[in-house]
Amino acid sequence: MGALVNTVTHNEQETIDLAIQFARSLEPMHVITLKGDLGAGKTCFVRGLCEGLGGDPTQVNSPTFTIVQEYIIANNKRLIHIDAYRLLGEDELETIGWDELLSDRDSIIAIEWPTRIANALPNEVIAITFDHVGLHTRSITIDQSSSGDKA
Ligand code: ADP
Ligand code: MG
Repeated sequence: MGALVNTVTHNEQETIDLAIQFARSLEPMHVITLKGDLGAGKTCFVRGLCEGLGGDPTQVNSPTFTIVQEYIIANNKRLIHIDAYRLLGEDELETIGWDELLSDRDSIIAIEWPTRIANALPNEVIAITFDHVGLHTRSITIDQSSSGDKA
């Protein structure tokens, strides 16, 4: 357990603004896991991350059939957006070049549905949990120093 920071947002824009703020603390090679039910706001948060990191947020949407999407952000770096929902397990990660992505010094990686690939996650991740509290209310908890209990 590390430093937990909880924020309650009341609409999509507040979640995006939270992600923009959070993006300031990020550095290349950080891995961010995003847990929560369908519609909890994970993709919305990634949109804010992309904006905060200097990328084009309109490129970010729920990847229905794509497992990995790549957005160019400031300083020619990349935000890698993975939706592991359709991955059957760690074995399939090879098909998206997982090892190369993890060791890429120019990439920040954000993963939706990280439990699908729990055993392949690095020890140090920033774990974000989204709770669907009400129609437009989301409780978002950021664990900045998550290790060990990954997913
Ligand atoms: P997920 O990726 O977790 O499945 P999305 O980000 O794709 O979820 O969708 C979240 C949905 O919830 C969007 O339709 C968004 O407009 C809506 N929404 C309502 N309130 C919020 C909020 N406070 N934060 C984020 N999204 C919200
Ligand atoms: Mg999503």
